[in-house]
Amino acid sequence: MKFTEFGLNESLIEGIEATGYETATPVQEKVIPIILSGQDLIASAQTGTGKTAAFLLPVIHKLIQSKIEDQVNALVIVPTRELAVQIAQNLEGLSYFTSISSIAVYGGGDGSSFSNEKQALSHGADIVICTPGRMIAHLNMGYVKLQGLQYLILDEADRMLDMGFYDDIMKIISYLPAKRQNLLFSATMPFKIRDLAKKILHEPAEINIAISKPPERIVQEAFVVYDTQKIPLVKFLLSSGNFKSVLIFCSKKNNVKQLTRELKHARFSAEEIHSDLEQAAREEVLLAFKNRRLKILVATDILSRGIDIDNIDLVINYDVPNDGEDYVHRIGRTARAETDGVAYTFISEKEQGKFMTIEKLLGKPVTKAKVPQQFGPTPDYDPRKQRAAPGRHSHSGGHSGGGRRR
Ligand code: AMP
Repeated sequence: MKFTEFGLNESLIEGIEATGYETATPVQEKVIPIILSGQDLIASAQTGTGKTAAFLLPVIHKLIQSKIEDQVNALVIVPTRELAVQIAQNLEGLSYFTSISSIAVYGGGDGSSFSNEKQALSHGADIVICTPGRMIAHLNMGYVKLQGLQYLILDEADRMLDMGFYDDIMKIISYLPAKRQNLLFSATMPFKIRDLAKKILHEPAEINIAISKPPERIVQEAFVVYDTQKIPLVKFLLSSGNFKSVLIFCSKKNNVKQLTRELKHARFSAEEIHSDLEQAAREEVLLAFKNRRLKILVATDILSRGIDIDNIDLVINYDVPNDGEDYVHRIGRTARAETDGVAYTFISEKEQGKFMTIEKLLGKPVTKAKVPQQFGPTPDYDPRKQRAAPGRHSHSGGHSGGGRRR
């Protein structure tokens, strides 16, 4: 479906063309008319489906006609700073030829960014994209004008609840006028999301585009290894393939740090990103990676959802992700848009049970690649046995998952 068929404002169509979108994605086809009709919406849609433009386009279109000056007209609440920045950038492109103003409001910057945000919020910004904590800091100071707010969007709602933002979200909502259009996007629909939806949404339309399965064109392979073989295998794979942009996920910060250290030592172009880094450092590393000045980015889960970096050709799960959704999100960083991608997952002995659960979710086993002979003997893939006797194999490397950390 062409974007011109939605009846969107001309200046918005110009922005869509300039951004390079030609036809609407399935989620956009379904979601845009619902939002234009004024109905509340609950949508299960993952990152990578085009869901950001699916809510931005109709909201911008409607605001061109109905925005109230010197106010916040739409509020997008997101779990992470990176996602806030990314949505703001997407918005900037799409709204470029319109009169819609916007600002991203997120923690971690220096004092001057807070006062810039304060300035913008005091004078009004049509669309504000915020992380919950930072928005509350501004709301507490009393200058944010939300009386005329028309749209509330919760993006990656499941992730926000996982991160403990429920109370913050409800607090922000307590500042909003009762009459508004509410849109909730979530990759998964556990009970707590349904419960949140019941509290916030009014007779919502429901859309389900969640593909809890990765795109077919991602080549997925898994290497069954001992913990101690993981770092040498990363180095081997990086040296043997002609990969231009590689994202490596670890479940623990310490693994990120150790692996990055080793890769740098071996003269790979690699940097790390995790929550210990200052915001400025995180942005710098992300930018270098996006610009292809940096080839390999080693990250904790913080990057697995929501972050849109084009043309990554290899994702390595250095540790098995905690659940199937995380797996799909992590490997979904590759094969964006039209490109193909490769995703390798390393499975240590004690991660086999976890990986079997993921394979069940995928509905089929992931091909187990042959570990080159030079690495010596490797464990058998026998997750059932491993499940039956947890902790039977204990290795000193300690690379396996554990709880949710980012
Ligand atoms: P999202 O799921 O919103 O993170 O979008 C994933 C990627 O798809 C982003 O790079 C978007 O810029 C891009 N995208 C969104 N909509 C379209 C479209 N209709 N045509 C082509 N690319 C799109």
